[in-house]
Amino acid sequence: SAKKHRVGSIALHNAAIQNAYLNKIKLRDKLKEALKEKLLDVHYQPIVDAKTGRIRKFEALIRWFDEEYGMVSPGNFIPIAEEFGLIHYVGQFVLEKSCDDLSKIHQAGFTDVSISINRSVNEFKSTNNQIELISEAIEKANLPYNAITIEVTESMATNKYTWHVLSILRSKGVKIALDDFCTGYSSLSNLIDNQVDYVKIDKSFVDSLVADKSKQAMIKCLVDLSTQLNIRVIAEGVEQSVQLKMLQQYGCHNIQGYYYSPAKPIKECLNMLHGSKEKNIKQCAATQAS
Ligand code: C2E
Ligand code: MG
Ligand code: MG
Ligand code: MG
Repeated sequence: SAKKHRVGSIALHNAAIQNAYLNKIKLRDKLKEALKEKLLDVHYQPIVDAKTGRIRKFEALIRWFDEEYGMVSPGNFIPIAEEFGLIHYVGQFVLEKSCDDLSKIHQAGFTDVSISINRSVNEFKSTNNQIELISEAIEKANLPYNAITIEVTESMATNKYTWHVLSILRSKGVKIALDDFCTGYSSLSNLIDNQVDYVKIDKSFVDSLVADKSKQAMIKCLVDLSTQLNIRVIAEGVEQSVQLKMLQQYGCHNIQGYYYSPAKPIKECLNMLHGSKEKNIKQCAATQAS
């Protein structure tokens, strides 16, 4: 009977694998359809100056609303897009939409605001010419190269070809950010060896910061080192004022998180910018009056 039980559990295990596979295939087909029907959207999350709270950048984050599934998280469908060769289409859509929307922001007068775009490792193959695609999108939207930041994860830092491509883009003025830093096997040599402009501390690290003294020491150290290397530190997933205060105290340069705002459609971002301009003017008037 022990044997019978084992056979049964193997059958169950197989069914679970098959089920997961079918779900994946369904999601892939839905994603294909969404790409074709242009059902994807891009929202933008502000990245602010840690000292003044002024919006410096927006991170472009893809959004997908499916009739059946509701909002599908990019954490769920980006890996599927990568596995089934759809990431190129996703990436191109986000690139073009982000450049278009940033040019709206610049046309509204906020010319010092830039945009940060996530790129997957699979997008840096020699067959899809990232240098050309990114340059074309920037020029088509009439943007300066330094208004675009490309975010790559630390795990991509080991890929030589990726860094070759990124270094060429960087020589044209594009900024590079090392995303999700402090997850997995973070290495300071990734900061020193590769030419990056920003390092982003992952939310999971920010989450445990307040309760963990050794993590506080590490962030302090990371900010000091980065500052010396002329790299700006962005803290991601900041939700509480106690986290903000701590990060400010360590000299962290930029803040991103629900404390300020989640990602929003372009219209709301423009309102946010206009609102902050008003606020700055009011603040200015108040200090002049006093
Ligand atoms: P990421 O690049 O690390 O982006 C930050 C994620 O943290 C976003 O999740 C953002 O909404 C979330 N976040 C920011 N602040 C807070 C906060 O205070 N609290 C909480 N709970 N969450 C916060 P999102 O939009 O779900 O994206 C997840 C991941 O999917 C991204 O992580 C990125 O790796 C990937 N992704 C998103 N858009 C794209 C894209 O256009 N292309 C590629 N290749 N990947 C993308
Ligand atoms: Mg990112
Ligand atoms: Mg990140
Ligand atoms: Mg993250």
